[in-house]
Amino acid sequence: MKLLGIKVGNGLGLGKCLFVDTKLPNINQGTAADLNEEITKVNSAIDESVKDYEDIIASLDDEDLKSLTEFNKNVLISPSIKKEIENTINDKKCYGDLAIDIYFNNKIKQLEALDNNYLKERAKDVKDIRHKVLSKYYNVVEFNPDNLKEDVILVSHEMTANVLLTDNLQYIKGIVSELGGKTSHIGILTTSLGIPSVFGIDVKNLKNGELIFIDGNKGFVETNLEEEKITEIKEKIASEIELAKELDDVKEARTTDGYLFEVSANTGDLTELERISEIPLDGIGLFRTEFLYLNKTTPPTEDYLFEVYKSFATKLNGKQMIIRTLDIGGDKKCPYIEIGDEANPFLGYRAIRYCLDHKDFFKTSLKAILRASAFGNIAIMYPMISSIEEIRKANLILEEAKQELKNDNINFNENIKVGVMVEIPAVAAMADMIIEEVDFFSIGTNDLVQYSTAVDRGNTKISKLYQWFNPGVIRLIKNSIDATKKYDNKFVGMCGEMAADPLGIVLLVGLGLDEFSVNINTVKRVKKYISMLNKKETEDFVKSLLDFKTVKEIEERLSKFAEEKYGKFY
Ligand code: PEP
Ligand code: MG
Repeated sequence: MKLLGIKVGNGLGLGKCLFVDTKLPNINQGTAADLNEEITKVNSAIDESVKDYEDIIASLDDEDLKSLTEFNKNVLISPSIKKEIENTINDKKCYGDLAIDIYFNNKIKQLEALDNNYLKERAKDVKDIRHKVLSKYYNVVEFNPDNLKEDVILVSHEMTANVLLTDNLQYIKGIVSELGGKTSHIGILTTSLGIPSVFGIDVKNLKNGELIFIDGNKGFVETNLEEEKITEIKEKIASEIELAKELDDVKEARTTDGYLFEVSANTGDLTELERISEIPLDGIGLFRTEFLYLNKTTPPTEDYLFEVYKSFATKLNGKQMIIRTLDIGGDKKCPYIEIGDEANPFLGYRAIRYCLDHKDFFKTSLKAILRASAFGNIAIMYPMISSIEEIRKANLILEEAKQELKNDNINFNENIKVGVMVEIPAVAAMADMIIEEVDFFSIGTNDLVQYSTAVDRGNTKISKLYQWFNPGVIRLIKNSIDATKKYDNKFVGMCGEMAADPLGIVLLVGLGLDEFSVNINTVKRVKKYISMLNKKETEDFVKSLLDFKTVKEIEERLSKFAEEKYGKFY
């Protein structure tokens, strides 16, 4: 049986289905006989949990997993935790499990109330910590990835990142979850660790211990596997491994008829600086500056921003680095940036809208980019543009920033390129007018799909409707690409997730996209796919695709074409 879900982490995996939700006893609501004994039990549950996290930290190599585990440990070593739980036990004369539950539930509620996706994810981490401490309290043996000895596919109603806190990852062949999306914490981790994952699966259809197949490239899980099928799957997985080996040699994205496409990286993560020179990327197509603003209590200074941009630009050695000005708001909030409560934050005070109202703040960020432009090939990109007026207003502030630097005799590139994200449908629809104002476009499908189909990109209940092959979305993309083709000196890239989708690549090569900007870990893979296509032939195929009216038909045709071209690699 094939269960269709949402593709999150690429790759294929075969393993025994292992449910990881450990059922805990019901919380004891009665009056405890011995309060001191309860306090002692709680304290040792916390200490044992801290010890577990310390052991995990010591065994991990991966920096993301390490910092996640540090966060969990820090929650438990906070000076007030034991005291607060002890007070609850004494006040309510209750058992320790109720006091633990109350303590963590309060923390979870506080985080969830913050209306910020990043912190909501942290609330899930706190749920994990609660689960751990309660398991210790009850002496229930939790799922421990360190004990895995055979290939498994982990399954949960709502998977949390805890299951990946191990150096025993080689046995984890896939992750299946009912809830969660591409941008959830566990989703991002599986992508960066290269573990196939599919979400949105009704896990009631899976049986513990049964051999199952997960296809993270296409987004499904298959059960009831017969011998013949298992052999076929094993062959497929072997060719995936072969592909991974072949990727070592990938250098450029040149189609079989000789056209060279650019494949750049999306980043903004300081820990990726060193990888810039290790990966054969053609530049940075999207530097998300908001990462430098989040998790801080005061805004970063111009000097700090300048140093960061300079270090990346220098590492790129002349390759282009597109720095996107601050895209704050929506689900990304900072304590020092006053956005206020909004009924629809994604349609609210976000990105360029906030920056244009806070001219000095915006100018500081622009000056940092301009200063760095003296040290590399830097371009500026404005996010969430919805009109020509916004571009012109932003450019006026940019001119002021340039003038102030000139007055201070500070060097910068006077001819720095300025582009916009095409992520609001109105802009895609008037792409021919917008392109006259800028040097380049970068199509942000993550938002373009959400806004043009009215599907909240973070809402797992409707994630099946989040479709970039919706013919309406394809038309907006095509319109944006076509608008740039009248100019020899302008270009169009894409920095949304669609640019890394094997089927998306076929469509985009056929429509004439110039630059693909993708997660740094997928640069080689995207180059490999492009180099297996013939540009002319793909263009003809895509022309014929434009007549189809349903996503199903479009995907089926793309899939057939991809199977032919990518062969064993698809
Ligand atoms: C996009 O919207 O496609 C994009 C790349 O921007 P972000 O995901 O940061 O909103
Ligand atoms: Mg966006």
